Amino acid sequence: MIEENVKKLLSEIPAKNPFGEKVTLVAAVKLQSVENINRAVAAGITDIGDNHVQEFREKYAEINGCPKRHFIGRLQTNKIKYLLGKVDLYHSADRYNLAEELSAKSLAAGIISNILLQINAGKEETKGGFLPEEAETAYQKIKALPALKIKGIMAMLPLDASESELKSLAAEMRKIYDSLRKEDDDFEYLSMGMSGDWKICIDAGSNMIRLGTSVFGARNYAK
Ligand SMILES: *Cc1c(COP(=O)(O)O)cnc(C)c1O
Repeated sequence: MIEENVKKLLSEIPAKNPFGEKVTLVAAVKLQSVENINRAVAAGITDIGDNHVQEFREKYAEINGCPKRHFIGRLQTNKIKYLLGKVDLYHSADRYNLAEELSAKSLAAGIISNILLQINAGKEETKGGFLPEEAETAYQKIKALPALKIKGIMAMLPLDASESELKSLAAEMRKIYDSLRKEDDDFEYLSMGMSGDWKICIDAGSNMIRLGTSVFGARNYAK
């Protein structure tokens, strides 16, 4: 099942988006067993993304094949210490004080942490992130922090939006990405797209998608 899903996805996902950029698939591994994750990696998954610090810690050493590690969930500042130096890319820099704390801890450890600015594309109250109109200001403020590298932006589109709304929000995110990228050579990733909307997102210029259900099947929240 997982092997077939991965094979199918890797053949379906275009190698490049309409902007000619390579598209990276990150498997969203929340609630998945170590065995399932290792199966996905063995089947060709190169990047995995965790949501929960506790799960990340429990499974960290048991994942085979050295996939790149992403953190894609909401992060509390007091948990940064458990991730420091182990995460290749933090997708969810969604507020200034988190960025500030991550920078301070990274500086103390002598490392640079790679982050994406999370944008609340649909201005949803239930979601974190900077509002689209705050993106530029947030970027300037966070850019001034010493031990972070801003590699792009991450956005989650509303689950209940129509296809035309999704297209327009995804295009708006690409616009923000492009305008910030003009001033910043470190910009490389527009992380946008989940199992339900990844095709629309790639068409609009996403170059990193985060898929859980499409890779592993429906999540079992009851466990
Ligand atoms: C769970 C999750 C995903 C993947 O969701 P699916 O709909 O299962 O593909 C992507 N991004 C984030 C931040 C998530 O928490």
